[in-house]
Amino acid sequence: MYHRKDTRPVKVGGLTIGGSDEVLIQSMCTTKTANVEATVAEIHRLEEAGCQLVRVTVNNEEAADAIKEIKKRIHIPLVADIHFDYRLALKAIENGIDKVRINPGNIGRRKNVEAVVAACKARGIPIRIGVNAGSLEKHLLDKYGYPTPEAMVESALFHIGILEELDFHDIIVSLKASDVPMAIAAYSKAAQVIPYPLHLGITEAGTLFSGTVKSAAGLGVLLNLGIGSTIRISLSADPVEEVKVARELLKTFGLITNAATLVSCPTCGRLDIDLFAVANEVEAYLEKVKVPIKVSVLGCAVNGPGEAREADIGIAGARGEGMLFRYGEMIRKVPEAELVAELKKEIDVIVEAYNRT
Ligand code: SF4
Repeated sequence: MYHRKDTRPVKVGGLTIGGSDEVLIQSMCTTKTANVEATVAEIHRLEEAGCQLVRVTVNNEEAADAIKEIKKRIHIPLVADIHFDYRLALKAIENGIDKVRINPGNIGRRKNVEAVVAACKARGIPIRIGVNAGSLEKHLLDKYGYPTPEAMVESALFHIGILEELDFHDIIVSLKASDVPMAIAAYSKAAQVIPYPLHLGITEAGTLFSGTVKSAAGLGVLLNLGIGSTIRISLSADPVEEVKVARELLKTFGLITNAATLVSCPTCGRLDIDLFAVANEVEAYLEKVKVPIKVSVLGCAVNGPGEAREADIGIAGARGEGMLFRYGEMIRKVPEAELVAELKKEIDVIVEAYNRT
């Protein structure tokens, strides 16, 4: 199997996808791409949340034209999502796009493919082949009867073959399905035979709640196997939520170095403080923390000191107060009303110390 560290490194703007254990976070704009103001504003919100690459739909001339201005005003690589019309790909490339998502087998005659590949080569732009269980080629549906993981991998190999024939190798591949077991099987099979980096996603996963669960279930399995160099959580929600979920998922597997982790207890009858409020406030605060510290918020002294020993900073609740722990040592007791403020101050001190080292 090609572990993500063993895949071909592919440059996208200033980033490298594949060839390392790093997994980059992507999202997609929900705005009309031609609406530059709205698209740039959404991308800025995504950047702020930790999105590292962003895709926009390029479904018409106006969208392709807008790429030029959008590129000037954002800081992360921009990916054009193109279906069928190779001229839009050429225009997006001319306007400075960093990566094109297009399936070369779906853009008509060979000269169309040659034109796109030549333009990508000239500017060092990679192509993502996006296989989707819901839109497999007719010859594969005829062969397999219905979408299967095998059909998805064959589709990917079909498109890869077209690019390789033109001596093009800056390729990234995704094999998305909304059916989680099918997506897991497709990516697992793909990782056996495809040396290019894989972009992971469970497509049309659902709403914030159900889509998060489905994506975490499917992509968690793959990430844990060492599969996947980029990730997108597809949610029927504000795309900022996609980025937040992706960051949390990568944290779970130790695949992100610029995010803080919160450990908090589910509470029980021993609880004497308003722990849910404290945990939610601390979690919101940690969203802005871009260093890998661990913070624990525990309801009582039963597990609190133990968890706090594993964390950089932590609290254990008691009646109307909390004990503050730093690197496993209790540093002081704080009244409940001041608990969050004191914890935030301590977090700031640790972040500052981390940034100095
Ligand atoms: Fe209950 Fe204390 Fe455990 Fe929280 S840490 S679940 S309050 S025993």
